[in-house]
Amino acid sequence: MPPSNPNKPHSFMETGLKGWSFEGIEDSGEYSVPRYKFKHNGPTLWLWGQIPYQLDRRFNLEERKQIFNAIFQFRELTCINFHERVYPYRDYIYIHPGESCFSDVGRLGEQQIVSLGKGCLNTSSVIHQLMHVIGFYHEHERPDRDHYVTVLKDNIDVDHVEDFEKRPFKMPYDRLPYDYGSVMHLGNTAYSANNLPTLKVRQRGAFIGRRSKHAYFSDLDLKKIKLLYACDSHYFKPQFQQRHPLLPLEA
Ligand SMILES: [Zn+2]
Repeated sequence: MPPSNPNKPHSFMETGLKGWSFEGIEDSGEYSVPRYKFKHNGPTLWLWGQIPYQLDRRFNLEERKQIFNAIFQFRELTCINFHERVYPYRDYIYIHPGESCFSDVGRLGEQQIVSLGKGCLNTSSVIHQLMHVIGFYHEHERPDRDHYVTVLKDNIDVDHVEDFEKRPFKMPYDRLPYDYGSVMHLGNTAYSANNLPTLKVRQRGAFIGRRSKHAYFSDLDLKKIKLLYACDSHYFKPQFQQRHPLLPLEA
């Protein structure tokens, strides 16, 4: 049963999202939306998987194609919809060609920057950054990761030590198995200071990291997105889905 009063807090136990609560309407503006918040320092989600984006004009045609292809993969395979910010939505992502590849996890509120440097302007890396945007951490940061990988601290570049820290709280998607093949799993020598491995698999024969820049979501990634956003539940209202066409590719 959907809650009778949409402003009344309710739990998501039914949908499997135990630990999430409903914060209520933020403002009365036309473009404001309720927020779902995780109780244990987790990220805020985007309501109904709708994420307005603005794209920096400095991306060239080929780079835009890679970004749109990533957005298209989300649209085709998940209930997440990145759509151009044609209305003044308060919360949105601004995708710009920064020095590095970077995104915060979840929805911060107001404008949040997604940086796509030269090294990550391929569809697979864009998907990785957009997964952070929708609320995903790296797979090797899971609280139970020590069963699956060994972190070789001595080989990690000092600037990236925190990329290997264990997440101190669980996410709903941690109920699904650890996934060596996730688009959110870094490779063996990621952020290495000396070209030696920074991550070692503990299961014989397991392969980590994205196989190539053509590797997109794993099957488990898709299941985890579905779980996090309760895509199949009656709470999920994809009311904006397909409302805005994918941007034409302008030079
Ligand atoms: Zn990342």
